[in-house]
Amino acid sequence: MDRDRILLTPGPLTTTLRTKLAMLKDWGSWDGDFIAVTAKVRAGLLDVVHGQDSHVVVPLQGSGTFSVEAAVATVVPREGHVLILDNGAYCKRAARLTQLMGRRATVLEFPEESPVSPQALEARLEADTSITHVILIHCETGTGVLNPLPEVAAVCEKRGKGLIVDAMSSFGALPIDCRSSRIDALIAASGKCLEGVPGMGFVLLRKAVLEQCAGNSQSLAMDLFDQYQYMEKTGQWRFTPPTHVLVALAEAMEQYREEGGQPARLARYVDNYQTLIAGMKALGLKPFLAPEVQAPIIVTFHAPQHPAYDFKRFYQAAKDRGFLLYPGKLTQVETFRVGCIGAIGRMEMQQAVNAVAEVLAEMGIAS
Ligand SMILES: *Cc1c(COP(=O)(O)O)cnc(C)c1O
Repeated sequence: MDRDRILLTPGPLTTTLRTKLAMLKDWGSWDGDFIAVTAKVRAGLLDVVHGQDSHVVVPLQGSGTFSVEAAVATVVPREGHVLILDNGAYCKRAARLTQLMGRRATVLEFPEESPVSPQALEARLEADTSITHVILIHCETGTGVLNPLPEVAAVCEKRGKGLIVDAMSSFGALPIDCRSSRIDALIAASGKCLEGVPGMGFVLLRKAVLEQCAGNSQSLAMDLFDQYQYMEKTGQWRFTPPTHVLVALAEAMEQYREEGGQPARLARYVDNYQTLIAGMKALGLKPFLAPEVQAPIIVTFHAPQHPAYDFKRFYQAAKDRGFLLYPGKLTQVETFRVGCIGAIGRMEMQQAVNAVAEVLAEMGIAS
């Protein structure tokens, strides 16, 4: 194999050569050149979701979950009460981290094959007025289901509740508009749909709630308000920044703009998704979700109902052909997942489908 394997996963994902090459340089964290890259990335992230007037960007070292944890720690007061809208694995993770940080957490459960319900949210907020904040996962990567962000934001605004949105797997690809959806904290990371490499997250904090965030965090490293203040004052990160990750993200965002921004990114992912679905259907592989609730980000497929099927063998055989698949995350049914995101297009998706066809034949699984 003279090329990297194609990552059909929800991050890390396949990046361009240009993005990889951007990492071949060392940077001083306090140096003016690096400070300029930080400023440019922060401004560019606001543009993606039209948050220039309403929000500030606070980047944070670590994987995406670090930023979710930091957002909850920073935005929710210690006596706050958080309602988590739960239709999958990442929602459960958000509930757990909220609880571990000592915030009161209530989970409103929905079936994993359907979006969360804004009506049910409104009823719960009406029934329990002690709730101060709501957490929504925009695209629940565990299944790939798309949740109704504008509708949930409207309910939270009407009821005067804070809204924290984990847009990790949707930011940059699916439309999010901070002018029409009121979001207190919007969280994403470098290594997802912006097609950077993993290693940092970022949170868009709404300016109107910023001052109330002082002193909320029980953790020094996770305090986004502190990180924000320091960055405003000095242009620098509080602690050692992931320099190479940031310059790679800056380079990835340059390509994002050249490609045509969010609409173009979405169009490419939709094309990837459609190529994948059509090809897999022809092989007899069925998606877990109904198409109307499916985001074009990651697709959960039912595992073939065949005694010869074994995910490990299936995975290895696809890997031998240059494609990394992803295990399923459901407890009730056996599934596997295929990501549609990353610096890949129709050709790679078609090649992936061809590889799966070969793998199924090799395993003796007739379609
Ligand atoms: C990727 C992802 C995260 C963060 O996961 P990490 O492994 O910490 O990077 C959080 N929420 C969602 C919905 C995700 O897709």
